[in-house]
Amino acid sequence: MRKIVATLFIIAMVSFAFSAQYVIDIKPDTIPDSDITWTAAYGNVSFPSGNKGRVVNVQGEDTGKFKLEIDVKGLGLNPKPHFYGEVLNPETVPVTVWVVRDDNGNSPAIEATKVTECFSKANWAFEQVAMTYEIVGSINYTNRSDWLNIVGTNSIYSQTREMFRLPKNGDRGLRLIFINTVSNVITTANGSMISTSVVGISGMRGIAMATKARSFSLISVAHEFGHACGLRDIYVRNSRTALMVTGPITEARVPWDWGGGYYPADVTQSNLIQRLLMYGESLEGKGDIPTGRVYGLWYEVINGSRVWHLNEANGAPVGVEDLDRNPNHL
Ligand SMILES: [Zn+2]
Repeated sequence: MRKIVATLFIIAMVSFAFSAQYVIDIKPDTIPDSDITWTAAYGNVSFPSGNKGRVVNVQGEDTGKFKLEIDVKGLGLNPKPHFYGEVLNPETVPVTVWVVRDDNGNSPAIEATKVTECFSKANWAFEQVAMTYEIVGSINYTNRSDWLNIVGTNSIYSQTREMFRLPKNGDRGLRLIFINTVSNVITTANGSMISTSVVGISGMRGIAMATKARSFSLISVAHEFGHACGLRDIYVRNSRTALMVTGPITEARVPWDWGGGYYPADVTQSNLIQRLLMYGESLEGKGDIPTGRVYGLWYEVINGSRVWHLNEANGAPVGVEDLDRNPNHL
């Protein structure tokens, strides 16, 4: 029996003014590329190197949403595997970078080469949504031992008030400040205090990245950029709530990233959430930005307390649908 396996994980869903590569995995390998045909069900895209095969280049001709469908000769696939996307104008986000050193100008929180690596990783992730982050001017340094290790209480970080007033190189864009550590002292329900390690703080005026946090990795900066663009954390489970994601991927859980349901049978919603850039736990391998909202555990702060959501009708805002592509810190 001939079998089709199309791995339609949430992947690069958005094409831009340049061509983007789309890949579909069709088994068995004996099905020739000439039997696999891509068409645009709607939208202004073209296939500059042809529309046959497992790999095609898709070129955006005009801005707007599109849908790609794949037909495989003789298989009568219903529904046809498909990708939703959008042709977007490329956006460049200027970022003012500050690195905090000790009072004597020693021990910077991060080396300049590592900053470059963080930006490369962020640009790898944000290529999916036609965005580029660029350091404005050169890296700025400030000598403030008292800013290297920030301690907050119940997610209030008073030290950042002054720190986030560090000037920006230019009016537009983001303010990114590298420090050593952030800890957050939380009062638990029974009144005891516990200290937790935080890798990043994202506020209206800036991002503070804790490079000495155990969970800091190259993708951490990209994740905080996601917050600056209005996206939220998504979890499978969290110690602050009993709610938890279980079960398979369904169309209702990823309505804009479903692709016809050609997921491997053993892949769960939890597996998928952990691929997302906005997955709230540290995981170096994450980085996907979906097209739409995704079913998962997420929270909003309402009147100072966390309200948790786990509801198919109220998916987590972790995709292009909720993305502000012109983020700006005050
Ligand atoms: Zn986060």
